[in-house]
Amino acid sequence: MIYLDHAATTKVDPHVLAAMMPFLQNEYGNPSSLYQLAHRARAAVEEAREQIARYINASPRQIIFTGCGSEADNLAIKGSAWANRDKGQHIITSAIEHHAVLRSCQALEKDGCEVTYLPVDSTGLVNPAQVADAIRDDTILVTIMHANNEMGTIQPIAEIGAICREQGVLFHTDAVQSLGKLALDVDGLNVDMLALSGHKVYAPKGIGALYIRRGVRLRSLLDGGAQEFKMRAGTENVAGIVGFGKAVELLEQRATEDNQRITALRDRLIAGIQQNIAHVILTGHPEERLPHIASFCIRYIEGEGILLSLDIEDICASSGSACSSGSLEPSHVLMAMGYSHEVAHGSLRLSLGRENTEAEIDHVLEVLPGVVARLREMSPLWADAQRRGEV
Ligand SMILES: *Cc1c(COP(=O)(O)O)cnc(C)c1O
Repeated sequence: MIYLDHAATTKVDPHVLAAMMPFLQNEYGNPSSLYQLAHRARAAVEEAREQIARYINASPRQIIFTGCGSEADNLAIKGSAWANRDKGQHIITSAIEHHAVLRSCQALEKDGCEVTYLPVDSTGLVNPAQVADAIRDDTILVTIMHANNEMGTIQPIAEIGAICREQGVLFHTDAVQSLGKLALDVDGLNVDMLALSGHKVYAPKGIGALYIRRGVRLRSLLDGGAQEFKMRAGTENVAGIVGFGKAVELLEQRATEDNQRITALRDRLIAGIQQNIAHVILTGHPEERLPHIASFCIRYIEGEGILLSLDIEDICASSGSACSSGSLEPSHVLMAMGYSHEVAHGSLRLSLGRENTEAEIDHVLEVLPGVVARLREMSPLWADAQRRGEV
């Protein structure tokens, strides 16, 4: 099997699993309890918190563990909207956010908030000047993702953060997809909140984190115990937290080298597809893009058809985001970038990870042109295009 869907999730690293195992077996204490078994679990949680804090240039007290990246986004957005009702109810975001952000904003709209959805250009970039223009007296939060999960475009986060700081508006960024791919320095990026997730970086599913700058007021989403500095009730997912900490330690050691290799593989993939398949559009920014994402619209066929054909060849890929696959709606990200329904329906995302090899990429480059040709032969869109003399 060739796995090219690392933007959807990754396999747990063996070192991560080894670090977690004791906390699933003999070290099962509740970190809040008062005996040595519990103290050891507490110490492991705090070590992971320090590890993650160090990696993003924060202090441990500013890291809240959550159940996933989506929860971290929800906490940042709903938590700050609820805590700052007295200041205003206006939020600014972009049209290409992950659903964890978009749907949180939509939920707040039902609750009386007003949300501005900023457009992006054809490469998927938000214009910082438009952020500045959209800020009003009653704006309490700007939330713009660091890098997009569908096509990889990297936003000018530091610049947008500087604008927000100058205007006294909170700034949250979803950095789930950029963790381990781009340098994450919460001071350099001028962010007040930053969401992370474990399972995109070889930790298990079901663990996330939110960085919260000192002085930022949030209301927690869950009522219950005083865990996570009273910001996230519920007994800690000790093994998950330990795994996340270990995964970030591995990023510290090897991400630079991995990313160099992955970038070269991605570029080989992009060049090969562009050379060997006609009528293909590379989506996202040509340079300002994540090292692991190659994303395309393959004209005159359906992304779903490509995925099914690739699956028969034992190649795992994705069309748009995992959350919207299975639905007939084209990707909101591609639509916001100005692609038509028809073009957006042909989307294909190949996302690389640390275990992919050059031989795997070459195999995909061998298989894909045939898959596309067969699908086009059966496609009414292709027949129409032929009739029009377009192809
Ligand atoms: C995967 C992803 C999320 C959601 O993270 P979960 O841990 O799966 O909830 C949020 N934002 C982006 C950009 C993602 O890629």
